Amino acid sequence: RGARHDDLVLSIKMIAYGSSKRLLISRDITHLERIETMRRDFVANVSHELRTPLTVVNGFVETMQDMPNLENDMARRALQLMGNQTSRMESLVNDLLTLSRLENEQNTLHEEEVDIPKLLRTLYEEGRSLSNGQHRIQLKVDSEARLSGSADELHSAFGNLVTNAIRYTPPGGEIVVCWSEQPDGHTVFSVRDSGIGIAPQHISRLTERFYRVDRSRSRETGGTGLGLAIVKHIVIRHQAQLNIISEEGKGSTFSIVFPARRRLAGAAAASS
Ligand code: ADP
Repeated sequence: RGARHDDLVLSIKMIAYGSSKRLLISRDITHLERIETMRRDFVANVSHELRTPLTVVNGFVETMQDMPNLENDMARRALQLMGNQTSRMESLVNDLLTLSRLENEQNTLHEEEVDIPKLLRTLYEEGRSLSNGQHRIQLKVDSEARLSGSADELHSAFGNLVTNAIRYTPPGGEIVVCWSEQPDGHTVFSVRDSGIGIAPQHISRLTERFYRVDRSRSRETGGTGLGLAIVKHIVIRHQAQLNIISEEGKGSTFSIVFPARRRLAGAAAASS
């Protein structure tokens, strides 16, 4: 697991500085790093190889579902089941590929000026479509600041948090998506929900790959178990910080705090 491996390498490095066995330990680190690279490459290759057959199967399932003479109930149900499962596998493969790309330190961040207010409006519309009128979704834009970062990655990180808020909030609940800035120049994206919440013992493990508080609920709602691992890597790549505050049965707030140096003046400020 990535997070544990990072911790292990860090602690071994710390020991290495104070020890006379420096050479031996640094060879261990190199070995661990090589294993980690092999693991990442293997996952990326397998995911890539699975993509084409999955697309073909999915295509045929969809074609058969559209056949006008498909009258047999059993066949119709079987096709629906196959369609759901292949879509799940496609999401999983896509998330695994995204994660391998983000984990690869050689893939440097593609920096650009990200129009955050515009991105928030897109997220709001996507959230409303996913919720399908079942939640009250509010968008609060308290800052016109833009960011220097990757628009695609930020869309993915923010989108994952909004999707989770909807998934883990029962119908009738409230979700508030907010963009604000602090006096010290930090800018903050946050999503607050009035959903099921998370017990304290789970919080520190949520960003591990495939860690779920309730496996069956996550499956039911279409989760791959990789969303927060993806968020964590995007946050690290932007030198930002992910904060999670939650109370079981009451709801959760996930925030990403960006350092002041990523902040760009907003449209109004830039033209004045
Ligand atoms: P998943 O695809 O299972 O949602 P994630 O990595 O996005 O995977 O999230 C990991 C786990 O964290 C989820 O399975 C869920 O148990 C918990 N979780 C994430 N967001 C929320 C939230 N807003 N409210 C309650 N639990 C959450």
